Amino acid sequence: MGCGIFGAINYENQPVFPYVYWGLRAQNHRGHQSHGFLTYSDKEFFTYKNLDLVPKVKNDAIKEWFGRLPGSIGIGNVRYTTSGKCDDVSIIQGTQPVVATIDGIKLALSFNGNIVNTVPLKKEMFENFPDFVYSCDSDIVCNKMLLALKQGKDLPSAAKEVMESLDGAFSVTGITGEGDFFAFKDPHGIKPLCAGHDPAGKTYAFSSETVSLDMNSFVRDFELKPGELVTVSKDGFKRIQIIQNPRPAFCTFEYAYFARPDSRFNGKYVYEIREDFGRNIVKENPDVVKESDIILSVPETGDDSAMGVHEASGLRWERASRRHRYVTERAFILLNVERFSTIDKKINILGSKVNGKRVIITEDSIVRGDTTKVIIDKLRKAGAKKVYVFVTFPRIIGPCFYGIDMSTYGQLVGSRHDAEGIAKIIGADGVCYQSHEALIAATGQTKDHLCLACINGEYPTPCAQKMADVMKQRFLAGYQEKSRIYESEEVQA
Ligand code: SF4
Repeated sequence: MGCGIFGAINYENQPVFPYVYWGLRAQNHRGHQSHGFLTYSDKEFFTYKNLDLVPKVKNDAIKEWFGRLPGSIGIGNVRYTTSGKCDDVSIIQGTQPVVATIDGIKLALSFNGNIVNTVPLKKEMFENFPDFVYSCDSDIVCNKMLLALKQGKDLPSAAKEVMESLDGAFSVTGITGEGDFFAFKDPHGIKPLCAGHDPAGKTYAFSSETVSLDMNSFVRDFELKPGELVTVSKDGFKRIQIIQNPRPAFCTFEYAYFARPDSRFNGKYVYEIREDFGRNIVKENPDVVKESDIILSVPETGDDSAMGVHEASGLRWERASRRHRYVTERAFILLNVERFSTIDKKINILGSKVNGKRVIITEDSIVRGDTTKVIIDKLRKAGAKKVYVFVTFPRIIGPCFYGIDMSTYGQLVGSRHDAEGIAKIIGADGVCYQSHEALIAATGQTKDHLCLACINGEYPTPCAQKMADVMKQRFLAGYQEKSRIYESEEVQA
């Protein structure tokens, strides 16, 4: 599931709820369907979970919140679903953090990612835990780890068990019933997770993105390595490399779409990387630039690359596509039924600024094509003479099984059409994608450190590769997948 996670521990027994609260609010873009807090005090877990965005805490309710979530260790989660059902009841049941208990051993987890081999793992959990209820993948991670702890294994061995038996993406932060605070990343490090501390060195934290450390005025320490476990005690961080020589495969889509521009990966702001994306597309498409008068962006992710396009092309960046500040859902992470009704309400065009103009519009990605199509329709109605789309993330040709909700070939316009075909479908005069090489270079990484599966078909984990291959054959034979394939017993059997 697409999620944002945050966890904090304070050594002077001060409540950590405010840190977790701001840590989640800063990451609400990673999941808008539900939010949850869990704190630890006197060997007890305290939780609060609800649907929608992290709420504002009114002044007269502050005391109530502190009373509800006491303790000096806490974790939290914002979520949108890529596993389990999507109705309100199922979403609230699948809201994290999750807690599991067996024979008096307790464990609480907050998780970002998606497990691919869920079917055999669920079976194992049902066999070992008669009361096991599956609401989301975190239940599997939590119970799998708990099973190892029950067998007398220590925390590093339990984390190893999880890392070796799960196929998929998982960045995790958690608290044991004994108050051990920890975090780990899957052996490919597909999802982000970083660590930091407050300037006084009294509070330590884990976060999906660095923006949540910044919002808490924390110092960033490091990004966890793939296959690494970090435990925190009053003596500081203890870093343990559980899986040796892992093959890193960080999600490239984080740079193009998912992460906040003011977060940093490898010390570089996502914003700067997106600016480079914009410069790259200009270099790769000089003819289109010559034929254009102005640039526009699809706010807000497209704004960052628009700056690069503006600088490299010299074209005026007209701020003529405006976004409704309080319609906060990101179109791509909305459910199908929500998507069509919201995009139209979210973006408005200043008609006189585009009337009679040849326009380049910068877009972070094209998944289904419907968002871009609505905006192009609006530009046409406003009198734009030509509309070209500069897309920073290369053509998405395959599904993601790692926590981004594009799980079938059928829903991806890029799996069926090349750039020319997509331009026709969305009503553009041309669609120009950034090349793979330019994208990779701008991230500062090398190809063998990134996941590029949805744009090149090479999945970093074996189960995902197998599923993609099976699905592709079925898709080419005309079969329409009706559900997420990683939840299908038929394919995993
Ligand atoms: S398949 Fe695409 S979206 Fe999914 S983790 Fe890999 S790069 Fe990210």
